[in-house]
Amino acid sequence: MANRSPSIRIGDDAPGYDLDCFSIPKNYAQDLEKVFIPHGLIMDRIERLARDVLQDMGGQHIVALCVLKGAYKFFSDLLNAMETLNRNSDQASPIMVDFIRVSSYCNDQSTGSVRVLGGADLSSLAGKNVLIVEDIVDTGRTMQALLPLVEQHGPRMVRVASLLVKRTPRSLGYTPDFSGFEIPDRYVVGYAFDYNDYFRDLSHVCTLRETARDKYALAVQKL
Ligand code: 5GP
Repeated sequence: MANRSPSIRIGDDAPGYDLDCFSIPKNYAQDLEKVFIPHGLIMDRIERLARDVLQDMGGQHIVALCVLKGAYKFFSDLLNAMETLNRNSDQASPIMVDFIRVSSYCNDQSTGSVRVLGGADLSSLAGKNVLIVEDIVDTGRTMQALLPLVEQHGPRMVRVASLLVKRTPRSLGYTPDFSGFEIPDRYVVGYAFDYNDYFRDLSHVCTLRETARDKYALAVQKL
């Protein structure tokens, strides 16, 4: 078993950081409460996650499967970090990429049902070392639905890397193999985490103001 780094635990009463300490796009400044995880810290953590993943899965072909849309930034930054390590290693591993689209949220509520909306031809995963890259494990329902789908195609090994894991009473008990940060039960946006497709274009992980939930709600968009 590789020497995996512990997840960074962000406490329940973590206050976050004032928006004024960072550069925030003007169009979102009124909608956000705090910067919860600054982009630089995310990048530092990813550098170590890349090492953990390669120690565990390296030396073999890896197929990295991005769970869209929320994981696209994490996926890209994690793979860049893995590529950098590969460039400087005697044991470089080829990395292939694929994408799958999954949806389970409406506004900030899990709908309870997970839909695979398309993407990868999972039969190509047979015999491969598969790294599923997810944005956040909340209830764990998405992973509980996706893992059997991947496994039924006969991969050699499956691992899951999730940037965030939420501490929530709604958890079904699933924990990913690699996780960046363990966070309290709050809804976060930014770094590709969305609220009805807004806020993906924000580099830090932030918490939302109550007013933004109404403003960007699906049913009544008042933009
Ligand atoms: P689960 O199936 O584990 O309950 O939820 C997984 C999915 O819900 C994630 O992939 C993500 O798309 C969405 N999700 C859960 N919590 C959050 C959150 O705090 N912010 C955002 N933007 N999405 C979340």
